[in-house]
Amino acid sequence: MYAAKRHPTQHWVRYSPEVADARSDTFAAELAAAAERGQLRVLYQPIVDLLTGDLVAVEALVRWQHPTRGLLGPDAFIPLAERSGDIHGIGAWVLREACRQVGAWQADLPADRSLHLSVNLSPLQLERPELAGSVLEILDATGFDPHGLVVEITESALVDDRSAVPHLEALRARGVRVALDDFGTGYSSLRYLTQLPVDILKLDRCFVAELNGDPARAAVAEAVIRLSQILRMDTVAEGIEDAAQATELTLLGYRTAQGYHFARPQPAAEIERLLHQPTAV
Ligand code: C2E
Ligand code: MG
Ligand code: MG
Ligand code: MG
Repeated sequence: MYAAKRHPTQHWVRYSPEVADARSDTFAAELAAAAERGQLRVLYQPIVDLLTGDLVAVEALVRWQHPTRGLLGPDAFIPLAERSGDIHGIGAWVLREACRQVGAWQADLPADRSLHLSVNLSPLQLERPELAGSVLEILDATGFDPHGLVVEITESALVDDRSAVPHLEALRARGVRVALDDFGTGYSSLRYLTQLPVDILKLDRCFVAELNGDPARAAVAEAVIRLSQILRMDTVAEGIEDAAQATELTLLGYRTAQGYHFARPQPAAEIERLLHQPTAV
């Protein structure tokens, strides 16, 4: 099967599946080598206290500085890394780099301030029995206080595969906290929520986007905050894009939030600048 495809130079070239395969093979090989070639980056997105504006935590978000394609977001390569198995190496690299960086920031903070670190884990990382061991090893190697670390996992990863529960319990036993990312978007796990090793619910940004002062549209955001209070969990609201959403969430009882309204994910140097301001954000 051949399909004609217009080449940027205006010549008609033949599209061949072999060429496409070779290209994606190259991309996969480049991804496998990205960490050792120093092409991975970690951006940090501030998580702020809605009442004080203080920067209380950062979420580490991976990027790939590809030599020809530019700066790639996780959606462009995490799914491939999950298929190829590179996700384990990439995940470990992100955790090590973020612990090193945030640990250095923590060491410079005044005694009355703290800064937590949130790192995303792929469902595939959760499947591995060595997960807890490798996380704890990185914490030891970087000297990062486990109480300052939050691992973010998705609802479905836990509900579909309960084998992750003991790995998470092992991390919690050392003080690491577990957040359910994009909460509310998975098919309902309410029934399991009380049995799962979870400390924080991250309200998915689609429920924040719905907020517009109409109480009916705040139903999920309100239900999640009540649920967290009953279950004694913390919450983070994601994807706050304007001041009205921040106000509405505050009135609903949310205390911490993250979103472009406060700050985009940014390089370490920018976070460092924020940390040195009197009121962080
Ligand atoms: P996530 O963990 O839910 O991260 C939040 C995503 O929402 C980030 O996208 C962030 O840039 C974006 N975001 C933050 N505030 C706003 C806002 O106000 N409006 C909108 N529209 N978007 C906002 P990003 O960095 O592209 O990451 C996408 C997803 O990729 C993450 O979703 C996470 O699931 C995954 N990811 C990122 N880094 C890693 C990693 O190191 N390991 C793994 N396994 N997954 C990662
Ligand atoms: Mg996350
Ligand atoms: Mg999220
Ligand atoms: Mg998400």
